Order: sequence, then structure tokens, then C-alpha cells
Amino acid sequence: MKTDTPVAIAKACDYPTLTPIDRPILTPPSGHKKVLLHSCCAPCSGEVMEAMLASGIEFTIYFYNPNIHPKKEYEIRKNENIAFAQKHGIPFIDADYDMDNWFARAKGMEQDPERGRRCTMCFDMRFERTALYAHENGFPVITSSLGISRWKNMAQINDCGHRAAAPYDDLEYWDFNWRKGGGSNRMIEISKREHFYQQEYCGCAYSLRDTNNFRRSQGREPIKIGVKYYGDEPVE
Ligand code: SF4
Repeated sequence: MKTDTPVAIAKACDYPTLTPIDRPILTPPSGHKKVLLHSCCAPCSGEVMEAMLASGIEFTIYFYNPNIHPKKEYEIRKNENIAFAQKHGIPFIDADYDMDNWFARAKGMEQDPERGRRCTMCFDMRFERTALYAHENGFPVITSSLGISRWKNMAQINDCGHRAAAPYDDLEYWDFNWRKGGGSNRMIEISKREHFYQQEYCGCAYSLRDTNNFRRSQGREPIKIGVKYYGDEPVE
């Protein structure tokens, strides 16, 4: 069954908290209307959340991102996501920050490049917990905001999502391409409108290290955590 065919247009006036644009109605796999959305941050999930709201999909946000380092960055991303969920009245599950477990699983992959096997492990870990929570709490579908960023390999993310859902007969992974149909542009528009925090690296200690090494090679300052926001002038 094709899940992303526009069958109607949701009018923004029906949803007063949404960005005032018309959107295609989305249908999760098997026609389900209840979804557990793994969210990595407010900028990536803002468009996904608004698109699901406009389609009348009942969803809950599951925030499980023990990859994010340091804790200050983790708290900024999480708290901003909580605030945006509250604005729309969306339930938010704040899962563990078991970073020791993440570092243990990343052992031996510290020098791997982004989009490599460390990232597969990182997506697997986050999807595994999301799938378990969905299975134990009656969600028939999981999906994630991870793939909306153009920096990510969507095929890699979707492989991990399908792998996580596979052990459960009662669970499907929704591999919808959230970038499509203007999704990428709306992600930026919403981020500017909401003045979201603009993270400058993917999230883990190794991506922070590598981004800073690159910046130094360009004669730029290293990243300052907590200072850059969408819509502001460039911060160096
Ligand atoms: S670069 Fe991003 S996806 Fe890859 S391991 Fe680090 S936090 Fe996870």
C-alpha cells in the first residue's frame, strides 16, 4: 500500500497552531492513525510534527538520544523539543540519557566518518529503544525525524528503522520521506519562526571533535554551545 499519496489537503485554518500552509494528508502504514515519533531535536521534528498534526495522526514524541554530547547540548535540544511539543499539546516521552551505554557501543568506531558504521550503530540504538517502547505501549507504527536533514543518509536510517521494528509482529516502521513536497524548506521556515537553537554538529563527541577539526583547518573558531539560533545573524 502506498502511504504517501495526497488524498486531500489539510487547511491550516483547521489547526490554529500550525504554520499557515496547505499540506497533503499523510497516511501511516496499514492505515494506522497512532504513531510513536522518535525525535532527535526540535528543528528536525518541527515539520514532522506539524505534518502529522495536519493529517489528524495521533502521535507521541519519544526522545531517546544518548548520543548527544556534552550534557549541556543534550539539555538544550531536549528542552526545546519539550517546549514545542507542549505548544501543540503533544505527549512527550523523555527516555534515558544512558550515554555510558552509547560510548560502550561506539568503542572501536571513534575514528569512523559520519554516515559510517558508528552512525548505523547510533541509529540502531535509538530505534531499538523506540521500537521496544512502542511494542510495550500499544503503538503500531514508529517513525523518526532523523531523516529530514539533508546531511543524513536516508537509506541508512530507514534500514535501521526497519531492522528495529522487524522483531515485533505488531509494529511497522514508517519510512516516509519527510524532505519531500517542500518538507525540507518548511523545516527551515518553522525553525526560523520558532527561533530554534541551531546545532552546529550532528550530536556525539566524535562529530563535535571532527567538526571542530574541520573548522580549525579553515581558520574558524571552534563551536560554542548554546549561542546560535535560527534567524539570527551568523555567529562565528
Ligand atoms: S555523527 Fe551523528 S549519527 Fe553518527 S554517531 Fe555521531 S551522533 Fe550518531
